[in-house]
Amino acid sequence: MKAVTLLGSTGSIGVSTLNVLSLHPEKYSVYALTANRSVDVMFEQCQQFNPKIAVMLDEQAAETLANKLKGVSSNTEVLSGEQALVQVAESHDVDYVMAAIVGAAGLLPTLAAAKSGKHILLANKEALVMSGGLFMREVEANHATLLPVDSEHNAIWQCLPVGQQQQYHYDGRGVRKIVLTASGGPFRDYDIADLEHVTPEQAVAHPNWSMGQKISVDSATMMNKGLEVIEAHWLFGMASNQIEVLLHRQSIIHSMVDYIDGSMLAQMGNPDMRTPIANALAWPERIDSGVAPLNLAAAGRLDFAVADYEHFPCLALAYQALDAGGTSTAILNAANEVAVDAFLNKQLKYTGIAQVNEQVLTSLSASSGDTLQQILDDDFQARELAKALIV
Ligand code: NAD
Ligand code: MG
Repeated sequence: MKAVTLLGSTGSIGVSTLNVLSLHPEKYSVYALTANRSVDVMFEQCQQFNPKIAVMLDEQAAETLANKLKGVSSNTEVLSGEQALVQVAESHDVDYVMAAIVGAAGLLPTLAAAKSGKHILLANKEALVMSGGLFMREVEANHATLLPVDSEHNAIWQCLPVGQQQQYHYDGRGVRKIVLTASGGPFRDYDIADLEHVTPEQAVAHPNWSMGQKISVDSATMMNKGLEVIEAHWLFGMASNQIEVLLHRQSIIHSMVDYIDGSMLAQMGNPDMRTPIANALAWPERIDSGVAPLNLAAAGRLDFAVADYEHFPCLALAYQALDAGGTSTAILNAANEVAVDAFLNKQLKYTGIAQVNEQVLTSLSASSGDTLQQILDDDFQARELAKALIV
């Protein structure tokens, strides 16, 4: 029986994870659930999964939850605040930590899971984008196991030779490059001139995947794919010129590994995050995820095309930041979080997201990123500059 802490349980990944866990009560128990402030969803989840601890980041929300739970004689303990997130990620009672908080807010608890040698199921790509070098050093030094949940990285993980997935270095695996597939999001067929007036409602309506708001906007701009390029660099030890992005509108091939003998291995499946979640939970074994089997005859065809930087400037910015190194990727990530938030609140045009990201990335000078303090300082500066540019 493995005890699981689920950081971000009320979100899209969190709900899918609980869905998979509910199919295997004999294998997994829920130690802690955490959320920002969604009390009603958390209350339901506590009643169904009876965690030892529930954490609400927001103190007021924690109080409301505690009162509601008292009303149903629940024995779940309710905590609040950032330190409580860290506490349930590093607790000795926990085996597996699902890192599914969105954005930079997930960094500290995910880092705590790495430092305490947990089996980490990583959805929160922003943690690696912000602090890849530091994070991977903690993983290696503390013998944590890092399992990618992001569908592309989980696909690559599955296509790498068994026993070599956790070598965070490229040498010796016979890999020429890795190919991240991208659906291209809801605007892939739009003329560039028409992007200026697209709305948040249109941007979050992804053609193939159902996801949280922030990552849905990132999928439309392809900043998400850019963050995934950076994530792949750290997870698999590949240089930026060995990581390619390919448009594939059906989202059936989730990514590929190209070997030096001419073989290209792909992982396929229906676009449903329960597959990579179940894969990461059960690795190296396999468990039922609840996802329907892939019907290729019904899918009919698979299309591929080159991703064009003029249409998706955020993708080019991610490669630029990765090549610049240090805290450049943290700076880009922070600017993007502020810009996406402003777009969702109708304070910034869609095309303004790439403009803000580029201006912040090129105006600030990055530091080495060797310490957490440097990373957090540069993240803060980038947010301040992005906010100033938007106003
Ligand atoms: P979401 O917005 O649906 O859920 C986010 C969760 O984090 C919620 O439980 C929320 O309460 C919590 N949260 C938000 N802000 C917080 C804060 N400041 N402190 C503590 N908790 C906070 O997001 P999602 O789509 O589930 O994505 C979660 C992560 O997984 C993201 O990093 C995303 O990039 C990654 N991811 C998501 C998908 C997907 O299909 N949704 C796929 C791949 C990767
Ligand atoms: Mg992905």
